[in-house]
Amino acid sequence: MSDNHHLTACPDCDLLIDLPPVPLDYNAVCPRCGHVLYEAHADSVLRGLALSASGLLLFPLAMFLPIMTLSRMGLIHAGTIFDGIYKLFSSGYWVMGLMVLVCAVLAPLIDLLLMFFITSLIRLKKKTPYLKTMMRTLHHIRDWAMLEVLMMGIMVSLVKLKDMATLEFGAGLMCMVMTLLCAILSQIMVNNHELWEQIEALSTNDYSDDKNIAGMMAYDNH
Ligand SMILES: [Zn+2]
Repeated sequence: MSDNHHLTACPDCDLLIDLPPVPLDYNAVCPRCGHVLYEAHADSVLRGLALSASGLLLFPLAMFLPIMTLSRMGLIHAGTIFDGIYKLFSSGYWVMGLMVLVCAVLAPLIDLLLMFFITSLIRLKKKTPYLKTMMRTLHHIRDWAMLEVLMMGIMVSLVKLKDMATLEFGAGLMCMVMTLLCAILSQIMVNNHELWEQIEALSTNDYSDDKNIAGMMAYDNH
């Protein structure tokens, strides 16, 4: 958290606010409309790192372990997420297959990967010009990772299928739910302002290091 005041515009009512440093465990709200401008989440970097690492460990299991086993009239079928996507493509529903592939597989995976790399690089104090680009991409990719919708879809299909056949939930389903929870929690429990401020602080340090080196070189020349 920076010690300096900084101007911020309320995303809801556009009021320009001179935001003072927000103490830990406090939220900052817009004085006009009440929109939460700054949520208190201590250790956002560590939280983001822990949640993204857990999500990434569970991701391959969620993709390749059976989601559920369906038994109906003596026929038993176990399916994974990739089986479902492949069946959509092979049945000609390629637009639907593409949407499922992007929104249910690629977007959550990229979301978790970006969060992992951003928080790791901040934690290691690694100065790279790509940090800001990764952070901006993370904001954009979250528009496509419809995690809450996906969770609801899984629940609705389970309730519907339960009446039609005997269902046995596989380990893949548990891993899928846990992966989605990690991704959703990393959106809720990580304060993006704090990540941006840490990235800014790294860039500033970089700048002052450059100035120090330049100063030392100037001193050597004398
Ligand atoms: Zn406002």
